[in-house]
Amino acid sequence: MAVTLETPLSRVLGAKTAKAMAESLELHTVRDLLRHYPRRYARRGEMTRLDDLQVGDRVTVLAQVRRVTTRKMRNRPGSLTEVTVGDGAGEMQLVFFNRKHGNLREGAWGLFAGTVGEYRRAKQFAHPDFHLITGDDDEDWARALIPIYPATKDVSSWVVQKSIRLLLDASGGFGFVEDPLPEDLRARHGLPSLPAALLDVHRPTSQDDVDRAAERLKWDEALTLQLVLAARRRAAALEPGTARPRRPGGLLDAVDAALPFTLTEGQRAVGEELAAELSRDSPMHRLLQGEVGSGKTVVALRAMAQVVDAGGQAALLAPTEVLAAQHARSIGAMLGPLARAGELDGDPAGTRVVLLTGSLRAAARREARAAVADGSAGIVVGTHALLQEGVDFADLGLVVVDEQHRFGVEQRDALRAKGDRPPHVLVMTATPIPRTVAMTVYGDLETSVLRQLPSGRGGVASSVVPASDKPAWLDRAWERLREEVAAGRQAYVVCPRIGDDDTGDADTDAPDDADGAPEEAAGGDRRPPLAVLDVAEALDQGPLAGLRLAVLHGRMTPEAKEATMRAFAAREVDVLVATTVVEVGVDVPNATVMVVMDADRFGVSQLHQLRGRVARGKHQGLCLLVTELPLTTATGARLTAVASTSDGFELARVDLETRREGDVLGAAQSGRRSNVKLLSLLEDEELIAAARTEAAALLATDRGLADHPGLAAEVAALATDERATYLEKA
Ligand code: ADP
Ligand code: MG
Repeated sequence: MAVTLETPLSRVLGAKTAKAMAESLELHTVRDLLRHYPRRYARRGEMTRLDDLQVGDRVTVLAQVRRVTTRKMRNRPGSLTEVTVGDGAGEMQLVFFNRKHGNLREGAWGLFAGTVGEYRRAKQFAHPDFHLITGDDDEDWARALIPIYPATKDVSSWVVQKSIRLLLDASGGFGFVEDPLPEDLRARHGLPSLPAALLDVHRPTSQDDVDRAAERLKWDEALTLQLVLAARRRAAALEPGTARPRRPGGLLDAVDAALPFTLTEGQRAVGEELAAELSRDSPMHRLLQGEVGSGKTVVALRAMAQVVDAGGQAALLAPTEVLAAQHARSIGAMLGPLARAGELDGDPAGTRVVLLTGSLRAAARREARAAVADGSAGIVVGTHALLQEGVDFADLGLVVVDEQHRFGVEQRDALRAKGDRPPHVLVMTATPIPRTVAMTVYGDLETSVLRQLPSGRGGVASSVVPASDKPAWLDRAWERLREEVAAGRQAYVVCPRIGDDDTGDADTDAPDDADGAPEEAAGGDRRPPLAVLDVAEALDQGPLAGLRLAVLHGRMTPEAKEATMRAFAAREVDVLVATTVVEVGVDVPNATVMVVMDADRFGVSQLHQLRGRVARGKHQGLCLLVTELPLTTATGARLTAVASTSDGFELARVDLETRREGDVLGAAQSGRRSNVKLLSLLEDEELIAAARTEAAALLATDRGLADHPGLAAEVAALATDERATYLEKA
């Protein structure tokens, strides 16, 4: 029979097996099956670490039968057989009711699969499935490495293994598999052919086989991914845009003249880069990464000013109302009369800065929309509300997205679609992105980095305060806060929840917890997270009595939030007790202390962001991460890591390590298979970078992938596949 990668499994396997594979593993074709790689390999005689198994895990283990005992059950008819299996390190019970188990003899080796349960404090498999390795079994079992496949209740690991063997017999080897990788590329990187790699990954004779095969199969994943991204970049570069060249004597010059500081070298360099790209008629797609406090806002403002000078409009999209309002306020302040063109005291050479958020009253919103539509508003600052129907721009020239990790690609695209021609796009993030993530998830954007912080910053000292181990430390924390206030400084106290009648811990104005704290922290029987309203009251009555406290959270009206932020900025408030509404972008340089309550409830990059709030002035900042969890837990260790470095790129790594790969690439979230199975964002940086270079080279010629039909097919499959959504959802 002629087998190809597209052959349905029902033509090569039994109908029942094919159906089970389709239903429970989503394997439909020969390609699917061959790309279903082993999760790991079991070795005979090697410990499988039975001890480490967790109740509820569904696993396949290689073990030896140690004891078999059968007895009559006392309370009901029938018999019960207990089989003890072990692997050297640990033992485990298999329990069978009234079942024939004749071949489970002491000394026999086999694969045992099932869900780990617990009975009288011992781990057991309740309804195990097993496959014994007998002397006269096929030669598969004699192998040194036995592949253990991702399996389900209906399709066990050994059924997958047998199916692949069947396929191999039916087709006389994997010779029918065409290799999509160009010959010269393989030679350059010393990669085995695809048929060889598939054979080695499914039927290895040594660990070396596996490693070489895995390297090659990772290349397939990385190259396809990079080709999709490169194609997207190319398509974007061909879009017709509008050039917004620099015009001397306009808003930009006025901004530069009004700046109360000199730009850092990085700000200047990135500024040049942006200015040049805005002057071209192909739309810019750029990601600006900059440490918290590195001064991204002014970089964006200068780009916006250039576009306004060229006759266009610029939109600044912020993730929260607090942040949008703050941007509008500080841009307005920086531009002075230039922000009030058309008003009595305005400068006719300037423009208007308009704030457009969901909570504006109807009349104000109508007015704002009108100014956006007739072009009199050159700079429009807003939240998601900007994306809505009915917001039309006269001539949208630039979209700036602040704190990108809060926005999806869809939202970015929705805003882009508001221009007649695609506007230039600048995406800014303070969450440092490891290089590999920048190359994959954000791979369709060019990147700029601001590493340098403006000089004269005091820096932040951080420590973890273990509130239950060392209650005295918490007292000392409040004392420190009082000392800072006495010295004229201000402080934030952040809590995970608002309080009163809110049931969940979500703050409506707080952005989604994009870097979610690990499950452990979501914990079932722990007390509810501390709430702003409760903590504010307790502090007011207790350790912070006499200080001027205010609260800030997402349930307040926009006016109240705004008034509170103003009062804090004007130093009429000493301590702001808040939810994560203060997480991003809030800028009060006189605030030097941040106490995060229940810090274990926050993710790594969230804590880093929060800490950034107190690193903004010339005074040294202090960040105290209060937790009741022991520091020996994984979460405690995470907090210690946050406290021990302020290098955002280092923390991004810590963050990546504590999350599953799939969460980052967004694939495994749905629990479905994805095209990225072997590639690791942590370990394969070099490979991803090399694949990116190869992808760019492959697409650099006019023929594109025309000479590489195999690759083109892989790319087409990925690009059209709904699974490719992982590219969008990060
Ligand atoms: P982020 O990059 O986190 O968004 P901001 O743009 O909010 O940072 O800037 C942080 C603070 O640094 C602001 O108060 C801003 O006015 C100030 N700042 C920006 N650039 C400079 C500079 N070159 N020198 C001194 N202060 C600066
Ligand atoms: Mg910012």
